Amino acid sequence: MTYDRSLPRAVRQRMPRARDVAREVAEQHGVCIRPIALQRLDTHTGQREIIDVPCGATLDAVCPPCAKRNRQLRMAQCREGWHLDHEPTITPDEPDDEQRWLIEFRADMQAKRDQADQAGKDTADLDAIITGLDEEINTAGMRGNVLAGASGKRNRSTRRRQDAPDLPQRKMANTTLGRTFASSGGNVYRPSLFVTLTLPSYGKIRDGVPVDPDTYDYVRAARDALHFSKLVDRFVQNLRRVAGYDVQYFATVEPQRRLAPHLHMAVRGTLPRAEIKQIAAATYHQVWWPPADRVVFEGDRPPVWDNGVGYLDPGTGEVLPTWDEALDQLDADESAQPMHVIRFGAQVDVKGILAGTPDADQCIRYLSKYLTKSLGGGWNPNHRAQRRHAERMLEALRLEPCSPTCANWLRYGIQPKAAKSGMVPGQCRGKAHKPDHLGYAGRRVLVSRKWSNKTLAEHRQDRRTWVLEALGQPDEPTDPHRYVWKPVPAGDANVPPLAVRLLRAVAERERWRAHMAELQARADGQDLSANREEAA
Ligand SMILES: [Zn+2]
Ligand SMILES: [Zn+2]
Repeated sequence: MTYDRSLPRAVRQRMPRARDVAREVAEQHGVCIRPIALQRLDTHTGQREIIDVPCGATLDAVCPPCAKRNRQLRMAQCREGWHLDHEPTITPDEPDDEQRWLIEFRADMQAKRDQADQAGKDTADLDAIITGLDEEINTAGMRGNVLAGASGKRNRSTRRRQDAPDLPQRKMANTTLGRTFASSGGNVYRPSLFVTLTLPSYGKIRDGVPVDPDTYDYVRAARDALHFSKLVDRFVQNLRRVAGYDVQYFATVEPQRRLAPHLHMAVRGTLPRAEIKQIAAATYHQVWWPPADRVVFEGDRPPVWDNGVGYLDPGTGEVLPTWDEALDQLDADESAQPMHVIRFGAQVDVKGILAGTPDADQCIRYLSKYLTKSLGGGWNPNHRAQRRHAERMLEALRLEPCSPTCANWLRYGIQPKAAKSGMVPGQCRGKAHKPDHLGYAGRRVLVSRKWSNKTLAEHRQDRRTWVLEALGQPDEPTDPHRYVWKPVPAGDANVPPLAVRLLRAVAERERWRAHMAELQARADGQDLSANREEAA
């Protein structure tokens, strides 16, 4: 885009840039504004093409239109599974397309990074992408673990078993469906639950901030946020034991104003409210990590790396215990205490919901309300006390170990798992330490495997199939090895400017919309949604 140079500078500066206009138009049309250009090689035809993939289909950090779209997909997923009236078929536990795609993409990025490195170029950007992808791959792989239960590789003695023996137990029935109730008029009711679970108090809160920041337990708040997902796992295990069937759920992790995560959960089937509260009260998780309460090495005197040996005490030159050694020591110590024990707070909210009622719809909207926002957001940076509170929370998190591989273990005199040179305590790049996550690095949406019997990718595919069928272009099953995707290097001459790509995507979207509207009109009263049911 060229500007008329004869215009005064002030006028030129007020002219919106083409790219900004294109972005605005794209946003209005719900089109991705940060598309990722990928080269697609069709191995059947040998044809190479540059395809824009919406950012929302790949990475976690997505543009607003993609976030909105993903939220709508999540709502559809929540709705489909909540009051299921037939048993879903078993879902194979193989890597889904999303995971496979991420791993291929990761390999490509690594190759690119290594090339740049060899050519003596700056690799900082690529390194950042690779770190992000690694986190993505890890969380994609961990998704199933929410249900898999605790299958720690190390054998703990029975005194460390974490079940809650005081809870009632029903005989296990091989079903995922909740009970139904029939009225005398022959109507069948399918009740379910909407549960909200909250973490305990760390100190009195007023207007979202601690009344007394100096006595507010920031360390406890940080550790609870770091291990929150484990507590949710335990809750689900206990819930199933008490309920006596394979309870399915769709849950979202949301921020509270006091900057603690809490959980909203749509549960299929129903239990007495008092029992849910009893389960929440009895559920806990012990973190069997080495102690991290005594600082051994301050920031100005961190342990030093020795190639082939590991991290050494900077004063004595002694090798620090490795992660495995520290765990062995913990196991051998009869009097050892868990590094942290996490429980829910007293505030448990349980609501009974009937299928197909406005109540159910309202809950689904509520469940997905904050999905487009980050966990760390929501506080006002101009509000002094809120900013101070967020800063103190981040500072507590900065020094807490986020995982066995966290550099912060050096501060407590232990070599992190898979230790390598260059680790600096207080500077771990793990997601959990970042302001957008505030300790919780897990998935925002937790869906049990037999919920709607579909992954998010399949829900996305559903929509695509439906649209293609409506257009009279059956979506043929594709050979999964047909296409090879490669990232396109930045500045590649084959990629048009972003403004052009965005406007193209808008035109495409409009063409489809118009076509769909035409079909709808032609269908002459025929209900398209019925076709959709059949297609599913
Ligand atoms: Zn996007
Ligand atoms: Zn860390």
